[in-house]
Amino acid sequence: MKKVILKPFREKSVLKRHPWIFSGAVEKVQGTPSPGETVLILNYKNEPLGLGSYSPKSQIAIRIWTFDPEERIGEGFFFKRIKRAFNLRKDLNIDDYTNAYRIVNSESDGLPGVIVDYYDNFLVCQFLSAGAEYWKKEIVSALKEIFPQSSIYERSDVLVRQKEGLELKKGVLAGDTPPDRIKIKEGDIFYWVDVKNGHKTGFYLDQRENRKETSIYFTDKRVLNCFSYTGGFGIVALKSNAKEVINIDSSAKVLELAKENFILNSLSLDKVQFLKGNVFRFLRYFRDKGEEFDAIVLDPPKLIHSKSTFDRGLAGYKDINLLAIKLLKTGGTLITFSCSGLLQPSMFQKVISDASIDAKKEVKIVKRLGMPCDHVVDVNFPEGLYLKGFVCKVL
Ligand code: SAH
Repeated sequence: MKKVILKPFREKSVLKRHPWIFSGAVEKVQGTPSPGETVLILNYKNEPLGLGSYSPKSQIAIRIWTFDPEERIGEGFFFKRIKRAFNLRKDLNIDDYTNAYRIVNSESDGLPGVIVDYYDNFLVCQFLSAGAEYWKKEIVSALKEIFPQSSIYERSDVLVRQKEGLELKKGVLAGDTPPDRIKIKEGDIFYWVDVKNGHKTGFYLDQRENRKETSIYFTDKRVLNCFSYTGGFGIVALKSNAKEVINIDSSAKVLELAKENFILNSLSLDKVQFLKGNVFRFLRYFRDKGEEFDAIVLDPPKLIHSKSTFDRGLAGYKDINLLAIKLLKTGGTLITFSCSGLLQPSMFQKVISDASIDAKKEVKIVKRLGMPCDHVVDVNFPEGLYLKGFVCKVL
């Protein structure tokens, strides 16, 4: 097996069981491992630390499969890890509430770069790293064994693959082609999901528990659902008897499915609007018109992608939160999220604090929101905790 030797003292993160080794920590690569090939990781004293997949193009040069240098990486390894991840989910009894949830959550399930989401018997996978791509056949074969009834579809059409030097692709890996729409349920709500073309693997499964927890804030309210995607919080709001729901998204396609989702839940379209456009502009438009709302949901896409775009992203969060705070009536509810992994919850709170000062309003956090149980986060991998939110009362 080819070997990678780390610079002195750069093994610290490995000893703390963090699964990433950055290219700057590598002293020497013995041989020329191909992208994704398994390498033995050694410290500068030549002591073995574990096995990982090598990715020559990425800043994350190695993603660690195991901290046991004796373990063998192959189909048996992937079978064990996937089975373990699935058993953990079974243990959480998610099936009672929904038929759509995450089965493999990448690093946090000991499978860096591998995402597997379950949508009513269709498994939708993403292979995001060179290592995941290298072992795709074995991973799919393990999935087939564990889920003999399920079809498997690949959604590796994700830009992060370019950082790993991988091309974008999607398509059937096993079984049937998914239908254009799969019906999923979350509690007593149904959603159509387009796993072939929708965002991520088709649906924002990571917001499931937050959709449930926020349902109590919408009754009799005039609700502005910003960055609505296919309905999500808007459907929860109307199902909880909101007075009116205005959904905004920049994509006409997702708004079409959003409308279908309101219909699927037998909700009256008289109370719903679907506005296609830029939330940053719409919030200003509502401000200029003197509109007011009782509740506003802000669930933007990731606004901070890297350290170099941190300040610009932060300004984006501040902008929409400031506008939303101003648009809320006294006593109104702001439900605000950030899915930027680089933004710590305390920093996100600071953004809302700055916005409240500029808006000259008092803002009280009444609930902290995070990630659902199926999106497990390994305690040694804090990067896994990317989604955070607050429910705030604006006084
Ligand atoms: N809340 C949703 C998920 C939101 S994802 C749910 O629970 O399902 C973010 C959404 O914002 C995407 O649908 C994307 O199309 C949309 N979007 C991105 N930038 C936007 C912008 N500037 N204005 C409006 N919508 C935007």
